Amino acid sequence: MPIATINPATGQLVESFDALPDGQVDAAIERSVEAFEALCGTTFAERAQWLTAAADLLDADRDDIGRLMTTEMGKTYASAKAEAAKCAAACRFYAANAERFLADEPADASAVGATRAYVRYQPLGPVLAVMPWNFPLWQVMRFAAPALMAGNVGLLKHASNVPQTALYLEKLFRRAGFPVGAFQTLLVGSRSVERILTDPRVRAATLTGSEGAGRAVGRTAGQELKKVVLELGGSDPFVVMPSADLERAAEVATTARCQNNGQSCIAAKRFIVHTDVYDEFAEAFVARMSALRVGDPMSADTDVGPLATEQGRADVEELVRDAVDKGARVLCGGQRPDGDGWWYPPTVVTDLIPEMRMWSEEVFGPVAGLFRAASYTDAIRLANGTSFGLGSNAWTRDPAEQERFATDLDAGSVFINGMTTSFPELPFGGVKNSGHGRELSAQGIREFCNLKTVWVG
Ligand code: NDP
Repeated sequence: MPIATINPATGQLVESFDALPDGQVDAAIERSVEAFEALCGTTFAERAQWLTAAADLLDADRDDIGRLMTTEMGKTYASAKAEAAKCAAACRFYAANAERFLADEPADASAVGATRAYVRYQPLGPVLAVMPWNFPLWQVMRFAAPALMAGNVGLLKHASNVPQTALYLEKLFRRAGFPVGAFQTLLVGSRSVERILTDPRVRAATLTGSEGAGRAVGRTAGQELKKVVLELGGSDPFVVMPSADLERAAEVATTARCQNNGQSCIAAKRFIVHTDVYDEFAEAFVARMSALRVGDPMSADTDVGPLATEQGRADVEELVRDAVDKGARVLCGGQRPDGDGWWYPPTVVTDLIPEMRMWSEEVFGPVAGLFRAASYTDAIRLANGTSFGLGSNAWTRDPAEQERFATDLDAGSVFINGMTTSFPELPFGGVKNSGHGRELSAQGIREFCNLKTVWVG
C-alpha cells in the first residue's frame, strides 16, 4: 500500500509520503533507547503532567484533528471529534491512575521463608505498535497513554492510509513535553515490520488489525521471544431474547452495526434473534437500517460515510455477492451507488447458511447478518460458532438468563442490554482468533511491564 492520504469520499489523492529509509529507522530506534533511559529517571507525577498536557492539546486540536481523520479514512466529522475527546479522557484516566495500577503488590510468602515479599511492575523499553486506520487516534492512544505512564517508549507503525494522523501523534507527545524519542512515528510499509521487531533494541510489540497481520507479527515475536499483544478481528454476536426491549434493541443494533461506517472490530455483525420475536425485531431493525443517512462525512446530517479504502469496499461487496449467489436474501441495501468515492449502503442479509463466507468471516462494512434461533441453546451455538471471540452482546431482561449469557458467550467481553464499547476503565481484548492480551484498565498497563517478584529473607 502507498503511504498516502486518499480521501475516501472522493477517491482523490491528497498527499503522499516516502517511506523512511532503513538508516533513519535505525536512528529512530536508537533515539527510543535514549528516551527510555531518560523516562526511567522520571516520576509518575512528571509523566502524568505531560500526559495531561497531551489531553489539553487534544481538546484544543479537536476540530482540526477531527477534520484530518475524516479526510484520511471517511468517518463522520462528529464521530472523529468524539474520538479525539475520548483520547483526551484516556490520557487523563492514566495520568490519574497509573501510579496506583503499578504500585508494589505485597504478597504473603512467609511459608517460603520471606520476611517480606512483593510484586513490582517495571517498564520493558521500546515497544513497537502496529496500528489500523479505523480509529486512527484511539487505537494508538489506548496503547500509548498506559505505555508512556508505565515508562515505556513507543514506536508507531500506523496504517499506510493515515500518515498525517500518525505524524500528528508524534508531534502531540513532543508538544506535551515528553522527551525526544519517547513516542515516534515511523512512516514505513508493513514489510519493514519484521526488520524492526527483530532489532534487539525493540523489546515488545502490540498489533491491532486483521488476523493475517496478527499472525505475521505474532510469528516474528515468537521467533524473537518477545512479548506481543494482539487485538484482531471479530464477528460479534448480538443476541435478542423474548424478554428484551425490542425497540431499544433494534435502535442499539443499528448503531452497533453502522458506527464508524461499519468498520469496527467490535461492531455487532451477526444478529441472532429468538424465533418468538424474530419477525418483530427484523421489521424494526430493517426499518432503522434503511433510514440511516449515507453521505458527506463532514455533514452533521450524515450517519454513514464512505468505506475507508477501495479494497475494503470490494471485500464487503464480494462477501454479500457470495451470500446472495448461494441463496441469501437482502432485506435492505446491498447495491453500491454509482460515482466517485467508496460508498456502501447499510445492508441486512438473511437466510445465511454455513457454506456462505458471511457465516464465518468478518464483514468490515455496514452489513448485518440476521439469524433465527430456536432456543437459548441454539442462540449460544450460533453465537459461539465462529473462529472469533472479541465482543458479544445479549438482550434479555431475565436476570438468570443474563448470568447464563455472561458465562456461556465465548468472547473477551459480554455486554448485556448494551453495545460493546472500549473504555479506559475496563479491560479490552479477545479470545480465539480475535487475539490475546488485554488493553486498557489496570490489566492493559501491566502487559508491557516486567512483573518482578521480590523476595526478602
Ligand atoms: P491490516 O491488518 O491490514 O492493517 C493493520 C495494520 O497492520 C496496518 O498498520 C498494516 O500496515 C499492518 N500490517 C498489515 N499486514 C501486515 C503484515 N503482514 N505484517 C506486519 N504488519 C502488517 O488491517 P485492515 O486494514 O484490513 O483493517 C481491518 C482489520 O483489522 C479487520 O479485520 C478488523 O477487525 C481488524 N481490527 C481489529 C481491531 C481490534 O481492536 N481488535 C480494531 C480495528 C481493526 P499497512 O497499512 O502498511 O498495510
